[in-house]
Amino acid sequence: MRLGSAEISIVSDGVFRVDGGAVFGVVPKTIWSGLRQPDRKNRVELGLNCMLIRSGGKNVLVDTGIGAKPDRNMRTNYGMRAGKLVENLTQQGVRPEDVDLVILTHLHFDHAGGCTRYGRGGSEPTPVFTSATHLVQRADWEEASATNERTRAAYNPQDFVPLEQSGQLELLDGDTEVLPGLWARRTGGHTAGHQFTLVESEGERAACLGDVLPTPEHLPFNYLTSFDLYPQDTVTAKRQLLEEAERNNWLLVFGHGVEHVAGRLTRNEAGRLTLAPEEIG
Ligand SMILES: [Zn+2]
Repeated sequence: MRLGSAEISIVSDGVFRVDGGAVFGVVPKTIWSGLRQPDRKNRVELGLNCMLIRSGGKNVLVDTGIGAKPDRNMRTNYGMRAGKLVENLTQQGVRPEDVDLVILTHLHFDHAGGCTRYGRGGSEPTPVFTSATHLVQRADWEEASATNERTRAAYNPQDFVPLEQSGQLELLDGDTEVLPGLWARRTGGHTAGHQFTLVESEGERAACLGDVLPTPEHLPFNYLTSFDLYPQDTVTAKRQLLEEAERNNWLLVFGHGVEHVAGRLTRNEAGRLTLAPEEIG
């Protein structure tokens, strides 16, 4: 769809499944199972939605999904049907080498996995987007590079170390206007350096939210995933982000949305924030 003079679209890498208790954190199953029906392994399906922004002659991709590297065990445990990003991008007329910038909300495997792939014969992974600079918050890079028992399982260094080796990595320090009208905005919360992307063109705005607000079901402030390393920071970031989004009528894109992937905020009869979904293709 057009957003001012920019063109934005959602490009999927596929879907995967995560334990519903982890997806909804402290929210009891009696409540979250009314929103999302779990499978017999208690998992709920999550989208792997990336955003393509075409603006000022540049192709910008926000997040890259899981990609095709996970082994059979990972694919089974997470019910992965992923690795479709390049095919779906190509269908939209953008080849991997046409991507100028990749903005990663954070380096977890379900956001950075599509950055690299194995070469022929299973050799070491190399970057998929061969001409792109990849933008990551420095705090996120540092956290991903020095994992501990709590954080390790969420990362695969093969997703992002090759980007540094090929000179395609650029680290950001806080909020940054990376192109005219295109902002990387640091939220923290989910990870110390988590960021979201805001596009502004001719008075219209769209935000790709990453995991600070992974699905429309996470709109209430206390609906946080168990993966958030700094949950209190997520609550603060969500409050600020949602206030700004409502005031300025942002189009919101949810990285893990399934039934609804995008929409704008509205209020129901009880005055609660809710999503008015929009199809943006
Ligand atoms: Zn995620």
